[in-house]
Amino acid sequence: MAMKKKRILIVGGVAGGASCAARARRLSETAEILMFERGEYVSFANCGLPYYVGDVIRKEEDLLVATPELFRERFNIEVRLQSEVIAIDRNRQTVSVKALRSGSVYEEAYDALVLSPGASAIRPDLPGIDLPGIFSLRTIPDGRRIREWIDRSQAKRALIVGGGYIGMEMTENLIRRGLAVTVVEMQSQLMPLLDPEMALPIHEALAAQGVHLRLNESVTGFAAEAGGSLRVQLASGAEESADLVLLCIGVRPETHLARAAGLEIGERGGIRVDARMRTSNPHIWAVGDAVEVKDAVTDQYAVVPLAGPANRQGRIAADVIMGREAAFRGVLGTSVVGILGSVVAFTGPSEKTLRRLGLWKNDGGHFEKVYLHPGHHAGYYPGANPISLKLIFRRNDGRIVSAQAFGKEGVERRIDVISMAIQKGGTVFDLEEAELCYAPQFGSAKDPVNMAGMVAANVVRGDAQIVHWEDLERSPALLLDVRELSEFQRGNVAGSTHIPLGELRRRLTELPRDRDIWAYCFVGQRSYYAYRALQQYGYRIKSISGGYKTFLQSSPPADPRLKSNPKEG
Ligand code: FAD
Repeated sequence: MAMKKKRILIVGGVAGGASCAARARRLSETAEILMFERGEYVSFANCGLPYYVGDVIRKEEDLLVATPELFRERFNIEVRLQSEVIAIDRNRQTVSVKALRSGSVYEEAYDALVLSPGASAIRPDLPGIDLPGIFSLRTIPDGRRIREWIDRSQAKRALIVGGGYIGMEMTENLIRRGLAVTVVEMQSQLMPLLDPEMALPIHEALAAQGVHLRLNESVTGFAAEAGGSLRVQLASGAEESADLVLLCIGVRPETHLARAAGLEIGERGGIRVDARMRTSNPHIWAVGDAVEVKDAVTDQYAVVPLAGPANRQGRIAADVIMGREAAFRGVLGTSVVGILGSVVAFTGPSEKTLRRLGLWKNDGGHFEKVYLHPGHHAGYYPGANPISLKLIFRRNDGRIVSAQAFGKEGVERRIDVISMAIQKGGTVFDLEEAELCYAPQFGSAKDPVNMAGMVAANVVRGDAQIVHWEDLERSPALLLDVRELSEFQRGNVAGSTHIPLGELRRRLTELPRDRDIWAYCFVGQRSYYAYRALQQYGYRIKSISGGYKTFLQSSPPADPRLKSNPKEG
């Protein structure tokens, strides 16, 4: 197809902007492509910044994925650094650019304008917020300043405000640098995008490594202390001392240019775009952290500041500008974070998000969830570690909605597979049947993904009736622990009747026929076997999903039976 020569201007030269520029060049040799970047670098690895502070990435230049020279030589793309686009005239199709070094302002005309200005770190207006030693991490100079501060002040104690994924990555990296770390999080859990029971293992993993967690707590101000450290005031009235404070409380889409140009801004605060990444103006596209896009499951607008979507959206904008059919399929927010040897990953909306949106039980049990804790590879091969997995699916047809997982190895691989299944409209039956890699050191003949599919498919087909620990509060059911005696003695749920699975068939008379029986084991497998047997003998049996291990992960509700009852083994 013959291409009309186009003049494409791109605002922001990192993830979304640089992807768009390079893709546009691959599609058109004749287009004139100019990229404006306010900062000193283009196409740098912001995702690598925590590891640069942690000295895993030692040299600053290793963060530079591409340079202006490379863009010019390899792609014939002109990059203008320290050049801030300060206004858009959408009628004349021009932008005003301020050259930050000279202060001069000039205009450039466009046929297509792409906005990829990213997001800015939220910096609350608290007393003392501008004191030395308080940082955010967004750019290479931010990373450099934090490194220098640690070295110069010989920092020993860091306080991280916010327990999201950047807070977690910084916790890991500051511990790596030998600092003692306190994390202050306003919510009752770290990683607030996860459901609380899936975040609990993170709390335990951090506490085991000496990280001091202050949950349900927020920072109200800062004061300088003698010797150059900071006193951090907390809403509870408590105070903490720190040599370094890192604000990791989230980001806000950079929208001031778009707002001033009269482009539509959505209710989530991002630039509103359609699936072709086009804004409310037909000559202006927007991508990355600055935009809001549709959530692929809930169909609601969402702001999801992640590098993968930004890169893909940049490519899509270039495709559309060059006349190709391309559309963004929506976000799932698929993410992974490594925290001090543990890994947490998730894809799709959490249960609490679905509940908040009123979607969870909108037609009497629309969604269901299962918990399982399979090994990351075959148990007989040394070094198997469990993966705690939660899968959410539609009860009527088994369509997969989301998944969350925690473990030490192989976690992100399972979430990636499930994420792809969700994107293709897959069901739990697809997971059950999925053909996946297997050798003992990598997985199992029944991979955790297959297992998740089988457990959930049992529920959809009606081969298993499951219940959850939080349902126990409202139930007069008899709790039946079918684990071995030694396991029961190490800890059980108060009030449980104990009959090991192996003795169940000959002790049937000990069980009531006129009362619900909820069986549990350690992870949910033996209680499923008990379910299959007892329901065939006519008992009113259900299996508690995820077993005692999930019980230990769940925050104990008010029912006294839900108090763990550890005994000497
Ligand atoms: P950015 O990459 O932020 O680029 C925007 C650029 O636009 C900036 O350089 C800015 O200077 C420039 N700009 C803004 N306004 C103007 C203007 N008016 N004129 C000229 N230039 C302008 N995501 C993941 O998926 N995984 C991770 O592990 C991960 N880790 C991260 C760690 C850190 C510390 C940070 C900060 C982010 C991390 N992210 C991660 C998020 C990811 O980096 C972003 O989602 C992604 O970079 C967004 O791309 P973008 O193009 O929208 O914005």
